[in-house]
Amino acid sequence: MVFNYHRIGNCQDCFLDQQVYSTDADGLDQQIRIVKRMSDLLHPKEAMDLIARGLPLKRPASLLTFDDGYHDNFSVALPVLEAHGASAFFFLVTDYLDHPFQVSWWDKIAFLTRRCIGKRIQIRELQHQAWSVDERNVNAVITDLLAAYRGPVRDEAGFMRDLESCAGGGIDRAPQRVFMDWTEARALVRRGMGVGVHSHTHPIMSRLDEEGQRRELVHSRARLDQELGIECGALAYPVGTRCAFTETTKRIARELGFRCAFSYAGGANEAGALDPFDIKRVAFPSYAGPARSRSVMSMMRLSGQVWF
Ligand SMILES: [Zn+2]
Repeated sequence: MVFNYHRIGNCQDCFLDQQVYSTDADGLDQQIRIVKRMSDLLHPKEAMDLIARGLPLKRPASLLTFDDGYHDNFSVALPVLEAHGASAFFFLVTDYLDHPFQVSWWDKIAFLTRRCIGKRIQIRELQHQAWSVDERNVNAVITDLLAAYRGPVRDEAGFMRDLESCAGGGIDRAPQRVFMDWTEARALVRRGMGVGVHSHTHPIMSRLDEEGQRRELVHSRARLDQELGIECGALAYPVGTRCAFTETTKRIARELGFRCAFSYAGGANEAGALDPFDIKRVAFPSYAGPARSRSVMSMMRLSGQVWF
């Protein structure tokens, strides 16, 4: 089973997208304990090797992955991993490391929506669909708007303009650093972690033409090579859901020499049914305590398959 994480920490303290928090340091610690007890927790290099060989497994195996390159992945998650002697893949968005105070589109949507409390948000592209935002429904509105942005929205700039006009202004730079810087990324590599490509600017790849997709992957991998001196063989598609990448994306990744690519649409990977350019990943429910995390793992084991 390949587990995916985003931010690690206490979401209550965050004025950006709180829904992108997977768990806090204690939750991660408990989940790693459970994963180690119920499966072989692999190093990224071992996982890449197994994938290349079509997953010859005798026992369930797991891999941990962290997407986007958040600063808390370095400051909070890395010490927990090291305390367990564990390693993980960190899929970095290179433009975010180039500008670590940058506010991503999902953080921007969450921040601006919270600024609209007491107002009515209307998005022209969504047939003028409107949301009246108050203290009680603000998180539900954020969920709706994020789903709309990932789903039917095509004019991303127009969507953001409508939201900014309701919020009375935009946000281009966070007051605190959101993402890792390159010094921290170099330390990740030095401390035995795996690093992979997660695009340069985190677009929804399926919305770009072939040249645009290729540019995202080529440039991102070149920046990782320049800054870290590594040639990345692994890719995680930005967003990673079924509609966020296409067969063209997979073909480009293969042509560029990537050895594998991870999606984020749920499910386990089984020998004989493995697509190395659509390796499935799952997440524990947000802030799941030990009992719930254990039950998630037990359900996976009950499937009767030797999974990865
Ligand atoms: Zn991402």
